[in-house]
Amino acid sequence: LSKRLNLPYTNDEVGHLAQTFDMMIDKIDESIKKQKQFTNDASHELRTPIAVIQGQAESMLENNHDIEEYKRTLSIIFDEARHMGKLVSNLLLLARSDSNTDKLNMESLNFSELLEGIVEELKPVAKSNNVDLCLTKNELSYIYGDQTRLTQLFYNIIDNAIIYNLPGGHINVVVENNGYYIKTSIQDTGIGIPEEHINHIFERFYRVDKARSRQSGGNGLGLSICQWIATVHGGKIDVISKEGHGSTFIVWLPAKSEKDR
Ligand code: ADP
Repeated sequence: LSKRLNLPYTNDEVGHLAQTFDMMIDKIDESIKKQKQFTNDASHELRTPIAVIQGQAESMLENNHDIEEYKRTLSIIFDEARHMGKLVSNLLLLARSDSNTDKLNMESLNFSELLEGIVEELKPVAKSNNVDLCLTKNELSYIYGDQTRLTQLFYNIIDNAIIYNLPGGHINVVVENNGYYIKTSIQDTGIGIPEEHINHIFERFYRVDKARSRQSGGNGLGLSICQWIATVHGGKIDVISKEGHGSTFIVWLPAKSEKDR
């Protein structure tokens, strides 16, 4: 850890300078600690799929197996490789967001159309999970934003609403526009989030139930990416949730006004 000045915080210029200096050092220490934790977590997450791939390939190379066994193993290897691929692209995106080097392609977008496309794409996924997904929107909404990133944001949140739902459950996506902000609520009747976890779910690699998340292809980076995307668009994400009853994720994004279209 970095050194402090070791000067008393007296009520004069030197005291104030010493206090400011120590506060800055605290912030730098905190940021170094976070970076170390991130590298640690990332390495750990990458080790799991690599170990599975190695183990499976080794066992197939050792003896002769029937074709069905080879197929089963190849399918496990394929899933793990896909998991790793998603993890690496998420890590790269977060690294670019940290260094402010992800170039956003900002343009005027028909927000209603964009959201409708995502909901249509996810409907079959919801259906195969026995979950009902519907979209309610009134007037057309426009936004100034990056289409790829905004698609990623809503895809992640609606996908989570499917994954963390229960068979026979519902998801309601509601869009409201007050002329200044577009408020999109993604309301699910799923498992909900225990109160003590709510404040942490946007942290990198944070998962309430690691096994459930991994089984459905998650890596705990989705929501931190969503929050970054909302922030760079001048918006934010709120969460209301009750364990055993469901969750509502509310995404606020600046609307494009009528005269700017
Ligand atoms: P993951 O890849 O694990 O889904 P996310 O960053 O998208 O990672 O979400 C972090 C965690 O927040 C999840 O592992 C899950 O525990 C919780 N979570 C996210 N969305 C929901 C939801 N709609 N209902 C219940 N829990 C959720």
